[in-house]
Amino acid sequence: MNPVITPSLQYTGTDHSKYTLDCVHCGSQYQLQEMACSNDNGLLRTRYASRRLHMHDFPGIGKFLDWLPVTAQINTPAGPVTYKSTGLARELGLTNLYIGFNGYWPEQGAHIQTCSFKELEAYPTLQLMQESGNNKIVLASAGNTGRAFAHAAVGTDIHVYIVVPESGISKMWLPEEPTDNIHLISMPNTCDYADAIQMAGKIATLPGMRTEGGVRNVARRDGMGTVMLDAAVTMGCMPDHYFQAIGSGTGGIAAWEASLRLRADGRYGETLPRLHLIQNLPFAPILNAWQNGRRDIVEKIDMPDPKKLIDRMYADVLSNRYPPYSLPGGVYDALTDTNGAMYGISTPEAKQAKTLFEQSEGIDIVAPAAVGVAGLVKAMEEDVLNKDDFILLNITGGGVERLKKDFTLHHLQPEFKLDSQDIDIELIVR
Ligand SMILES: *Cc1c(COP(=O)(O)O)cnc(C)c1O
Ligand SMILES: [Zn+2]
Repeated sequence: MNPVITPSLQYTGTDHSKYTLDCVHCGSQYQLQEMACSNDNGLLRTRYASRRLHMHDFPGIGKFLDWLPVTAQINTPAGPVTYKSTGLARELGLTNLYIGFNGYWPEQGAHIQTCSFKELEAYPTLQLMQESGNNKIVLASAGNTGRAFAHAAVGTDIHVYIVVPESGISKMWLPEEPTDNIHLISMPNTCDYADAIQMAGKIATLPGMRTEGGVRNVARRDGMGTVMLDAAVTMGCMPDHYFQAIGSGTGGIAAWEASLRLRADGRYGETLPRLHLIQNLPFAPILNAWQNGRRDIVEKIDMPDPKKLIDRMYADVLSNRYPPYSLPGGVYDALTDTNGAMYGISTPEAKQAKTLFEQSEGIDIVAPAAVGVAGLVKAMEEDVLNKDDFILLNITGGGVERLKKDFTLHHLQPEFKLDSQDIDIELIVR
């Protein structure tokens, strides 16, 4: 059984020479924690002083410190893991299929104990917060993100406020005893995820409180981007193709940005990996807009009656009504720059892919990851890959069943149960 190792996050101040933030649209430069350009809607992207990726000798995500927007070493065994597939590769007739496994599978070196790649976003985000002198963060989550941030914050002095719709409470477990800096706030049972987001927005206005920032948070994107970095280091080159199931597409943007850095490094090849991004039908606004050649998502056409569509999804984690698709530096630009492709996957296709993966690779995966596997199966059927291409399949979450053999799951109890949306939020944060 593996010990639970909690990170020791220490305030060290931030190194102002390590990176700048550049607006991808107008090129304006910003320092540190800025989240938006003052001229336009473009994403800010980190530009690191070190153009070459120098690996640090740490077991987890900390080995990529050069290209994470933090100063102090991140000390956790959780990090991306890449291995060459034999089982699934044989089933699909591929010779260079690599799996990026983001979950719990100690036999494979994978120690993400909340079992999704959201943990790769959580550690750098919390550390950046702390290095910039903040110690209160609020986020809305129905599952993986909330778990990841709670786990990464255990034993630290950062207060994490997680707003969860009542339907999401059961997904809020940790592999260890929660500490009292983790605050769960449950919404009335008439509320959905969108209401939780709104409530988190209200709480964010309290003094000293920060929001995690979503796609605009570079610590999140660069944290997720380590999946691509780890793959390139393992393969010795960038992959030809990158497969991932998306809801917001932030992971796709992150993979693209990581590959831009790898190209500039010079040692990993010149051609950017093609992004193959996959949505779960019937809710697929990005797929619909992309297939129609549009930079904009038109709600009436691309996601009519969203609540009904979302109810029919297999992996509802992948529903996002306002994905960062159109903005400069967003999913549309990532797909365009990489000659990318979009896929739509039905529930039966995803279930079949889940079984195929679990039987051929020998580890359980979560529903959204199965949607990603089904995307790879579809690409094979559509004959868009050569059998010797280097392919990176991002398994965005897995190993929950494996984890239960080693750990007792502790369910988080709400500290506040809101019975109405009009409450005095000052009562929540004291
Ligand atoms: C969040 C999540 C995704 C989707 O990621 P995005 O790139 O943000 O769309 C996929 N799989 C799992 C397990 C997730 O938690
Ligand atoms: Zn700008």
